[in-house]
This record gives sequence, structure tokens and C-alpha cells, in this order.
Amino acid sequence: GVSPKALTEHHEKVESDRFRPSDDDPRAIRSIGVIGGGTAGYMTALALKTKRPWLDVTLVESKEIPIIGVGEATVSYMVMFLHHFLGIDPMELYRKVEPTWKLGIKFDWGPDPDGFMATFDWHHHSIGALGALEAENTVNGFTVQSLMMMADRAGVYEIDGKYVSLMKYLPFAYHLDNARFVAFLTELAEQRGVRHVEARLDDVVLGDDEWVDHVRTTDGRELRYDFYVDCTGFRSMLLGKALDTPFHSYAGSLFTDSAVTGNLENGGHLKPYTTATTMNAGWCWNIPTPQSDHLGYVYSSSALSDDEAHKELTERFPGIEGLRQVRFRSGRHDKAWRGNVMAIGNSYAFVEPLESTGLLMIALAVQTLTSVLPASWSDEQARDVVNIGLGQRWDAIRWFLAIHYKFNTRLDTEFWKDVRERCDISGFQPLLALYQNGAPLTRRDPYILDLALGAAPTFFGLAGIDNILLGQKVPARLLQRAEPIEDWWARRKAGDALVSRALTQSRALEAFRTDPELNAQLLNDLDSWAGRHIAGYIGML
Ligand code: FAD
Repeated sequence: GVSPKALTEHHEKVESDRFRPSDDDPRAIRSIGVIGGGTAGYMTALALKTKRPWLDVTLVESKEIPIIGVGEATVSYMVMFLHHFLGIDPMELYRKVEPTWKLGIKFDWGPDPDGFMATFDWHHHSIGALGALEAENTVNGFTVQSLMMMADRAGVYEIDGKYVSLMKYLPFAYHLDNARFVAFLTELAEQRGVRHVEARLDDVVLGDDEWVDHVRTTDGRELRYDFYVDCTGFRSMLLGKALDTPFHSYAGSLFTDSAVTGNLENGGHLKPYTTATTMNAGWCWNIPTPQSDHLGYVYSSSALSDDEAHKELTERFPGIEGLRQVRFRSGRHDKAWRGNVMAIGNSYAFVEPLESTGLLMIALAVQTLTSVLPASWSDEQARDVVNIGLGQRWDAIRWFLAIHYKFNTRLDTEFWKDVRERCDISGFQPLLALYQNGAPLTRRDPYILDLALGAAPTFFGLAGIDNILLGQKVPARLLQRAEPIEDWWARRKAGDALVSRALTQSRALEAFRTDPELNAQLLNDLDSWAGRHIAGYIGML
């Protein structure tokens, strides 16, 4: 029999929502053309083939048009996406892509000369932000992960010749060398049966309103698919150019439009985080890879010429080499999905990489598409919910980045004065008022949190907002701690002890590269942040 407890807790079991068309449906969606072979194109093609293996998926790309070639820092969500959703074997990823770990971002930013740590275990306040602010006048040291970052360590130990890992309790992300990552995805796509067409699109031929009939290539071919995914990057060949979808610029909040990137020798020393350093007309990322640190100065071309940017970067980081220029525009198209076209990646939307959201937003769009793609054109299509939902999420990232800029008091250059004066943060103004009314936001009344979360639909949630505002010392009325400061110090000392025996990132990575059990714990254990059961809750399985 079924016990009353089991009965009340049971969820009716259902099959996946990835409907398969019937064999005799003349309007079935069977062939997908993914146009573009950057991270967006390959992640989309792989996901569709993996989650809907009956589809005939073709990726079309032109080697004449290079991929953007940047996009290396990620967020912890991507660990789950790569391993659970795409089914990538972690040992293979370590071997072929050589990722490094990102425990968070170290912002050389705001009033503290040491900057502040924005970590992925921010939800826990395991040690406590209020205690940290009282004891040390900085938010740093508010979680175990922030202590690891400050000490340049990662949560792996060697005890009696055996590796022991705490990483299943400490959310982290990968830094992925872009060239290696795209090469790896290319190989996987081939193995999993994604067709590949090397061709340059010349023309997109529309049928009835909002409908792509076929695409023409420069060598005279006509390619026809039931559904098209536009992954052509900033060119946005289908959604932007052919369908003429309006573009909403974020330039009122995000003033940068250029980056100059380069590599810097790191002598094998791998910091376990991304660094974001304030520069005269923007900021510079530093992403460690086993071969070198990858740097990129993101700046506003109206505040600084390219030559001045190169000069500032090389003076600030002597020895940097292989400089390469990139241009971008921040904003999104009005809709991602029109007719038989959905755009994923830069072809739909882009924000500059301050919070490493590029690959995350591709992953979310890919998950969305694999769930809602109709089996047949006779089915109802959920376009509106997709377009509204993705649009809201992108807009929320715009506002999230804007509050980084608006409150950064580190430098007084013309650029930063202008940003502080004019940066539009209106979308987060209500949340800012709530923060000023009582911070941290995450410790407010749960009902208020629920209301507030609706205004901030990003991966970073309210904890991410707290981290950025408290880290920059944006004034707020602070909540009262309901414990003596000695309790904070006790946790802090326990945290320091934990950190003092932890391995450096290079050695921790070596442990994960050589001991499959550590990855298995991370991806399977019931108490892991990246375990299968969590993956199930967020639609990754
Ligand atoms: P692209 O890489 O530009 O690929 C476009 C593809 O379309 C290419 O294969 C090209 O050949 C093809 N194509 C275009 N036109 C045609 C045509 N006519 N015919 C045939 N094929 C065509 N994201 C992160 O997650 N983390 C980061 O740290 C990060 N840093 C970034 C830094 C900068 C400066 C920039 C600009 C972006 C950064 N991003 C980052 C974002 C990330 O790089 C992109 O979101 C991601 O790489 C997706 O690119 P894409 O696939 O959309 O476009």
C-alpha cells in the first residue's frame, strides 16, 4: 500500500516535454539549420541533437568569418549545463580544454584599496557579511569561498596521500580557453551526429510574413530547414538583418563598446578567480589559463582611442602580448523568436562581459529552445512566453551591470565621473531603495524577498546584488546581527583554518584531473550543489 506520507509527497511522473513528431505529420519539424559556429552555434546544435536525437541538425558556418574568440569566464550554472545537460564527461573536459576554476570575481573596484570578492557561495553568508563589515570594515571574508580567494587557495586537501575535496559544498565555475572549448565542441558535435556545412550565407529568402523559406550561400547553394537558429553573432543575419527585428540598445547604462585583449605570462601560477580591475575608461579582466593569463581591457571608444587603450593596457601590464581588437554593442533585439527563426548568442543580445554572462545566457536560451520547440507547425507555439521571459532576463542583467558602474568610486577620470553621473540604473531603482531601507537584501523578510526577486530575474539573484552593493560600500541601513561578534570571529577562525591547509588551484586541478571520484562526488552526491538531484530541479536532465 501507499503510506499517507508517501501519498502526500508524491509527484505524478511525466515524460519529458520534448515532444516527438508523428511519422506521418506533413508539418513536422524534423530538420534544424543552426547558422553559425561560435559557442552559441555549437552549444545549440549539440543540445538539440542530445536532447532530441530524432532531429536532423545541421550546423552551417563560414571559416572566412572568424568567431568572436572571447568568452572564457563563466558562472557556476555552466558546470551543471556542460556535464548534466550536454552530458560532457568532466575528465574529458579537463583533458582536452584544460579549464581552470573560478571561485568568483575579485573586483579591484570601489573604495577599498584591496577591492572585494564576489563569490558563488554568496547565498550562504556562511561566515557573515554584517560581522565582516563590523569586524573588518569590508565585506571580504563573508563566506568560505571569499576566504579561499583571498588566500589564493581552492577547497581541496591532501590528507595521508589521498585527495579530499570540499568543492561539492563550494560552488565554482570554469574558465574555458575559447579556442580549445570551441574545438572540443566541434569534435563532440561530429561524434554525436550533427551535420556540418561549410558555407557563407549570402542571402536569406523570406516566404510569408516572419518566415524564412531558405538561405542562399555565396557558392550558389540553397539550404532549406524546417527551423532556423540564428547563431551568426553580431551580424545577426536572420533575426536582425533579414527579419529586421528592432534592437533595444543598453548604451544608456553600459558605456563600453570595445575591448583589446592579450596574453600575459603567469609562470604557471593560477589564481582561482577572475579579476576585474578598474581602468581609466572601463575595466580589465584577467582570466588564468594553464598557458598564460588572458587579459582584456573593456573600454568606451568615445572616451579613449584604441591607441590610448593599447598604451594604458601595456603600461599597466608590462609583457602583455598578442593584442587583438574587438568591437561590440550592448543591447537586445525586441524578440528572440520570430516565425521559424530563433536567435541565440550575440545575434539576439549582448552585454559586456563584466559578470561573464555570455555563455550563461546562451545556455538558458538553449534550454528554453530544447523545451519549447514544437514537434510540428500544427502545434501551438509558445513564442510570447519565450520572448518576454528572455527579454526580462537580459534587461535585468543590464541593470545588474549598471549598478556595478554607477557606484564604482575607484577612479575620478572623465569616463568614471560621466558614468557615475549619467549611468541609467532605473530598472533596479526599486531594489536599490529596498536595499537602502535594510541590507543585506537576502536577510530580509522572506515574503519581501519573493516580491523583490521578481524585479531581479538573473542568475545572480538578490545575493549577487548584496555582494556588489555591500562590496562597494553603497550606504544602507544595515540589519542588526542577532549574535555576538565573537560568534562571527569563531566562524572566521574556523574558515581561516580550513583555508590554511587547502591546496593551490594548480594542485587542486591536478587532483580533479587525475581522480575521477572527485568529479563523481561533485556531480552525483545528494549534498552537492551540482548534484544530479539539483540538476533535475532545474531541467538539466
Ligand atoms: P560568434 O562567436 O561571433 O560566432 C558567429 C558565427 O557565425 C561564426 O562561426 C561565423 O563564421 C558565423 N557566421 C557569421 N556570419 C555568417 C555568414 N554570413 N555565413 C556563414 N556563417 C556566418 N562570454 C562569457 O560567457 N564570458 C566571458 O568572459 C566573455 N567575454 C567576452 C568578452 C568580449 C570582449 C566579448 C565581445 C564577448 C565576451 N563574451 C563572454 C561573450 C561571448 O564571447 C559570446 O557570447 C559567445 O562567444 C557567443 O558568440 P556567438 O557564437 O554568438 O558569435
